[in-house]
Amino acid sequence: MSHLAWLSTKLDDGRIACEACNQHCKLHEGEYGICGIRKVENGELLLLTYGLAAAVNVDPVEKKPMFNFLPGSSVFSFGTVGCNFSCKFCQNADISQYPKEHDHKIVGHPLSPQRAVAKALEYGCQSIAYTYNEPVVFFEYTYDTAKLAHEAGLKNIYVTSGYETHKAIDTIAPYLDGMNIDIKGYSQSFYKDICGGSLKPVLDTIEYAHKKGIWIETTTLLIPGYNDSDEEIRAIAQFQADLDPTMPWHISAFHPMYKMQDVQRTPPATLRRAYDIGKEVGLHYVYVGNIDDEARESTYCPGCHALVIDRHGHIGQYVTNHLVNKNSCPSCGYKLHGIWQ
Ligand code: SF4
Repeated sequence: MSHLAWLSTKLDDGRIACEACNQHCKLHEGEYGICGIRKVENGELLLLTYGLAAAVNVDPVEKKPMFNFLPGSSVFSFGTVGCNFSCKFCQNADISQYPKEHDHKIVGHPLSPQRAVAKALEYGCQSIAYTYNEPVVFFEYTYDTAKLAHEAGLKNIYVTSGYETHKAIDTIAPYLDGMNIDIKGYSQSFYKDICGGSLKPVLDTIEYAHKKGIWIETTTLLIPGYNDSDEEIRAIAQFQADLDPTMPWHISAFHPMYKMQDVQRTPPATLRRAYDIGKEVGLHYVYVGNIDDEARESTYCPGCHALVIDRHGHIGQYVTNHLVNKNSCPSCGYKLHGIWQ
């Protein structure tokens, strides 16, 4: 479904500048953006996937992953085809890269913003996540849905690569409660060669969205031989500790995927090493993911180290929240950081 991509501006030379993400596409009539789902037609930039969901699920919020955000709740999750990145390890390449790999074809099932909100309420969800592909590329669809979701008492989450422009963040911030932002690595060459992006705009987005008061958790997928050296792991953790040590950091295990079938899985020892580095630099909340490690998936009170949110089983399967008065440690009364209601 085509819809005006209003987060854009017309340039003097006749091109249209998309203002959604830091790829900064400037497009002539008939051209597509790097994401493959924004196109200039009849002098206007259009979003081709408005109201067309390519993946829809009701998930535990822990699966996003968001751990200091309404623990144990369900989140209505959807995404479209298209992406502004081209990560060689993408877990959702069948939808994220679909238009680019199928001659600009757009697919999806009708899901209007109104229906997404109605479905979220019907399934007892407390939030809506824009996920599976990069949400900022279908910005106007997320914006309309998020606004309605807030009116209905639901929260909104972006699961994102962190390439939003300041304008996109400024526009959606009143309705956006949480973001999980990837820090995919800490070298420009990794971002350029493996992901099709740049590191600096991602770090800038994290700082900017944090300053706007949006609750942020970050995720790093550790890929053996690519971004898992002690130096790189420490650099990511230190960036985050310098910005805000209360920002949760998820360290996730890689499995062979998409164009990286020949790379081995992340050994559990690598995740444990990264966990220790995160703790060493002072991060309050470090979590490992994509492997069974109950001790490192649970939340501990930063004040007295008591276990306050116990997670075990498949992700989101058993979540026991021991916090009292919304966010306080039952042992020492420390108020934990996050979104709790
Ligand atoms: S959202 Fe798409 S069209 Fe817009 S700048 Fe990013 S990649 Fe380009």
